[in-house]
Amino acid sequence: MGFWQKLAALILPPRIEDYNVLWLYVRCDRCGEIIRNRVNLTSEASAAAYDDRGRPTGYLVRKTLVGSRRCYQPIEVTLTLDARRHVVEQAIEGGQFVTAEEYEAQEAEES
Ligand SMILES: [Zn+2]
Repeated sequence: MGFWQKLAALILPPRIEDYNVLWLYVRCDRCGEIIRNRVNLTSEASAAAYDDRGRPTGYLVRKTLVGSRRCYQPIEVTLTLDARRHVVEQAIEGGQFVTAEEYEAQEAEES
């Protein structure tokens, strides 16, 4: 590695962590609470499909979310990822997917 490349590597550390993080926003079907949860698409995904050389072609992430209010309804989220760990399908039971804006609105209301 040349001097300038080394310098660039020092100035611009790879942001792999951020790249592989996904925020989930879900609303509980029972109490309406909006829950935010951080998913690491690298460490929390497990290989679910392989090609004929044994290389993963797809991954699954399963999360069970429970709100902080006294409801305790589990919300089951399943994410299907392709070989590059991009989300291609998302399923939910016990709740609904909502946007970050809806979560922020709930936080603003409560503070
Ligand atoms: Zn709830």
